[in-house]
Amino acid sequence: MYYSEYEHLIEMPDEIANDIEFLTDINGTIEAEVYKRLTSHINDYNRDMKRFKDSQVEIERLKAIINQSAREAKIKQETVKKDAFSEGKKSVLGGFEKGCTAWVVRSRFEQEICPKCHGDKTLTVKHEGSEMTVPCVVCKNNGSLTKWIYEAKQGVVEGFKYSIYGNGNPNIELDIKVEGERSSNMFQTFFSTKELCEAHIKNMRK
Ligand SMILES: [Zn+2]
Repeated sequence: MYYSEYEHLIEMPDEIANDIEFLTDINGTIEAEVYKRLTSHINDYNRDMKRFKDSQVEIERLKAIINQSAREAKIKQETVKKDAFSEGKKSVLGGFEKGCTAWVVRSRFEQEICPKCHGDKTLTVKHEGSEMTVPCVVCKNNGSLTKWIYEAKQGVVEGFKYSIYGNGNPNIELDIKVEGERSSNMFQTFFSTKELCEAHIKNMRK
């Protein structure tokens, strides 16, 4: 009979049943161990995730501090740059800056009656009893003299021009709107006070 040859396999021998029981125990132990390790890993993961999230929060906080510091530094740098520029400009311009008062020399001419011929244009010369009429030598037959008047005038600085000459010397000109004048003009000579300006006029006459 075909089956009779394998009949002994139908009933499980005790050794095999014990083995299965043993294996089931082993499986249970492994399963428990796997579960334990997995739980531990999940806990580790959750802990790491929390640390990661905390780190993210900390990173964001530090980023905000860095950005704020960078903004402040930039503002500070620009302010310093602005101050340095305006200070530098002021020192180059001898303390002058836009909007401040400056004194300059303005000149105008006046016609004055000739002090020699008193407007007659001629002079009467007496020579050896005879009289001669000759053209006035002072006003050159004009009767009047052109007299230049130099005055210290107050103005407001509206701008400046800074240039370097070919020889390397700097040239500073201030654009000054003189009181009573219609438009501003460039000046190479300017003073901070009326007294300094008038002292300069005095020196010009020498
Ligand atoms: Zn004259």
